[in-house]
Amino acid sequence: MTARPAVRYGNLSPAARESIGGTRYYVDGASIAGYVRYWAHDPAAPAWTGDRCGCPDDRCAGFHHDPDRECGCLETTLGEYAAAASGCMVCRRPVESANVARHVFDRARMALMPVHPDCRPAALAMLGLDEDGRPIP
Ligand SMILES: [Zn+2]
Ligand SMILES: [Zn+2]
Ligand SMILES: [Zn+2]
Repeated sequence: MTARPAVRYGNLSPAARESIGGTRYYVDGASIAGYVRYWAHDPAAPAWTGDRCGCPDDRCAGFHHDPDRECGCLETTLGEYAAAASGCMVCRRPVESANVARHVFDRARMALMPVHPDCRPAALAMLGLDEDGRPIP
């Protein structure tokens, strides 16, 4: 195994770390360090440069949302990271965007699974769902 540069977590809040760490329950290999690496500007010295709430934009709280409220960006940015970390559920190649059209909902895992638009019919078939995402009786 090659040694990877240590990740610096900067101002990432405990609440944000907890949310980000939770990704590992539905994405194999996902981690807080992986999330920081994914959004880091310099892969050789991965450091968190985003806001404390977990948004990669360093001016999120007070700009993207009320500072007293939960971060609304995190769900999207985590989804994007999760897609990159796990790859398409059908072909396993990376899925580039967190666009909802690139996900299918797996009820058994209670998770959005990344999938390419081309792979979507196969993914629905794997999950026993019809085109509208309804279970096939
Ligand atoms: Zn934000
Ligand atoms: Zn935020
Ligand atoms: Zn695919």
